[in-house]
Amino acid sequence: GSATVSDGRDVHLRLDGLTKRYGESVAVAALDLAVPKGELVALLGPSGCGKTTTLRMVAGLIKPTNGRIVVGSNDITIMPTYRRDMGLVFQSYALFPHMSVAKNVAFGLEMRSVPKPEIERRVKEALGMVRLEALAERKPRELSGGQQQRVALARALVIRPSILLLDEPLSNLDAKLRDEMRNEIRDIQQSLGITAVFVTHDQVEALSMCDKVVVMQGGKLEQVGTPVDVYEHPASPFVASFVGRTNRLKGTAQGDGSVTIGAMKVLVPGRPGGKVEIMVRPHRMKLVEEGSVEDVAGQEVNRLAGHLKRVTFVGDLLQYSVDVGGAEIVVEAASDHGRGFRIVGTPVAVLWRVEDTMVFGRGA
Ligand code: ATP
Repeated sequence: GSATVSDGRDVHLRLDGLTKRYGESVAVAALDLAVPKGELVALLGPSGCGKTTTLRMVAGLIKPTNGRIVVGSNDITIMPTYRRDMGLVFQSYALFPHMSVAKNVAFGLEMRSVPKPEIERRVKEALGMVRLEALAERKPRELSGGQQQRVALARALVIRPSILLLDEPLSNLDAKLRDEMRNEIRDIQQSLGITAVFVTHDQVEALSMCDKVVVMQGGKLEQVGTPVDVYEHPASPFVASFVGRTNRLKGTAQGDGSVTIGAMKVLVPGRPGGKVEIMVRPHRMKLVEEGSVEDVAGQEVNRLAGHLKRVTFVGDLLQYSVDVGGAEIVVEAASDHGRGFRIVGTPVAVLWRVEDTMVFGRGA
């Protein structure tokens, strides 16, 4: 079936069975995808999952082995890159070192023989969009990483492409700048209403910036959905553990809404049966003293007894590792000035709502 991210909006970019083989190995396996006009879609997955190869096929930099790339109603599968009307931004910026910022941005327009006064006007406009007007005469080496990445963005936008393609554009920036640029790229993309495809291996980036997330593994599509969809309703154990942190416990479902995990028993939504893996997000769990009667008001809860193994202070969070029947469970709690459980070995109990338990089958 065709996995579609369209929900009534016009499809702008469509991939039909897009495939890339290198000899025996398959980098991208029959990918179907529909990107609605004006949406920012993230291709998200671990290294080697085929996301860059997919983007490069869309850009025309790699020739597909099979399948089609369609923009609007035009099949562009074999169209050369320069005719595709796409703006590209790479991780490496790829600026011309000997040219000024303004010249770098003007380059694409000069190649297209745009008249000089219009070039000047559009370069100014593009540099305004990325807030770099004041640095127009600098050389790339006289700019910070974030500023260079903004030049690369201005250079991609100045040709007024119909689709913007971004390949890990923020990976070379430090954490603070990355946050800033995330918002900046998102704001520009939305104000222009431009369709964009964004390649990243960073789930936070994908969740926070994009309208839809396309999770890939081994050249295949695992799930397509809104950020909330893929985080709250992951379609597979892979998606659940790749998008956000999660605890995983293997057990046997009894068919009555319970799952046994060794000597322990937990309740799960529905009535699954057979070998299963249950997953719970660390921030959905709560750590309490053993024997406390604390409860999550009016909710059906699971409760597992264990011992505190480790406490990690990460500023806004405390991460507790708890030994529960030989398995390690991680519980996250908001840090109140670092106060919380401290003493390793303390007998504790882990609580979570039954409805916050995700269940996946593990075959027969
Ligand atoms: P990364 O984030 O590390 O760039 P990726 O998800 O973008 O990873 P791709 O670069 O698309 O992954 O690569 C997908 C698969 O295709 C990998 O297994 C890679 O080794 C393989 N591959 C990519 N380019 C070639 C090539 N030119 N020849 C042979 N195999 C290739």
